[in-house]
Amino acid sequence: MMEHPENEELYKGLKVNKGVSDVPTVNPYLKKRVQRRQYSPAEFVEGILKGDITILSQAVTLVESARQEHQVLAQEIIEKCLPHAGNSVRIGITGVPGAGKSTSIDTFGMHLLKQQHKLAVLAIDPSSERTKGSILGDKTRMEDLSRQPNAFIRPSPSAGSLGGVARKTRETIVLCEAAGFDTIFVETVGVGQSETAVHSMVDFFLLIQLAGTGDELQGIKRGIMEMADGIVINKADGDNVDKANLAAAQFRNALHLFPPAASGWTPQVLTYSGYYNLRIKEIGEMIDAYVAFTQKNGYFEHKRNEQSKYWMYESIHEALRDSFYHNPRVEELLPFVEGQVLRNEISSFVAAKQMMETYLLTNEGGEMVND
Ligand code: GDP
Repeated sequence: MMEHPENEELYKGLKVNKGVSDVPTVNPYLKKRVQRRQYSPAEFVEGILKGDITILSQAVTLVESARQEHQVLAQEIIEKCLPHAGNSVRIGITGVPGAGKSTSIDTFGMHLLKQQHKLAVLAIDPSSERTKGSILGDKTRMEDLSRQPNAFIRPSPSAGSLGGVARKTRETIVLCEAAGFDTIFVETVGVGQSETAVHSMVDFFLLIQLAGTGDELQGIKRGIMEMADGIVINKADGDNVDKANLAAAQFRNALHLFPPAASGWTPQVLTYSGYYNLRIKEIGEMIDAYVAFTQKNGYFEHKRNEQSKYWMYESIHEALRDSFYHNPRVEELLPFVEGQVLRNEISSFVAAKQMMETYLLTNEGGEMVND
């Protein structure tokens, strides 16, 4: 008992036990957890095509990863999945916080599952980086849906620019479609630029609105209303029904003032209750009608092609911007040249030309950076 100095007489009341080499673990299963094996691209693709959700999730994690080797692997998987993708209806859903997006997606999603659909719910929430907590990240927001085997819910990729976040979501759509999901929701908070990003990757854009403020049309950016293929007024239940109907009439009137949409489709305005599951069916029917209409007039296909083109150029712009601003010589010179511009020593255009020349001269063999 004397092997520890503090066990001497001097330290009365104190007894230091011999240490144990292996502390008994609280959770015995922890030890059994084996290191996850990295699948080969072919195994990933095979798993995804079989609809294996675990493998799909892991592939999405690769898509979202900033590591170069993960990106290389992800791109290979995406490329192999592409021929199996495209077979879904992609629906963008937006609305201000509190509009009832989660509640509605839960109810509408359950409605679609009952019709034998397979639903993936993705999100674009570029604010999550700033706030360190994704508004659209919490699975428990969709309590019923998150328990269903035919639903795949994935929070917004965090970190990075809106362009980067959007690219990851677009690539995730490809993987989900290859895994057999025939309906894709892409959710975003109606507070800014992210709507445009969502609009550029979906077939149908749904705007969730609330009634009751008296001036419903205020505060909605005209651009967002113009993007909408359907405006749905939520919480049309209880005392709120009349107000919701009034708001619907106001929206219908406002929509008349817009030029006709390129799709030839007249945006519809519906009222419903996500919480009480009222008239959800009508929303589904509206989207079905839109898909049938635009498939018949060729717009469906046309829009998807335009989106593919758009994303090619977006990716190029993003990569060029990244490569330029991460160029060490550019990073070093930029503040200096900026100072020259501010002191009127050189013009903005000369400064830009100089920076571009610096970039082009020093970027030989430059690597593409993915964020
Ligand atoms: P989100 O921020 O857009 O995702 O909105 P939530 O789905 O979290 O809903 C915000 C609040 O509105 C919650 O307290 C919901 O219970 C409530 N809510 C959502 N849908 C309805 C509805 O149809 N009727 C009523 N009365 N309340 C609703």
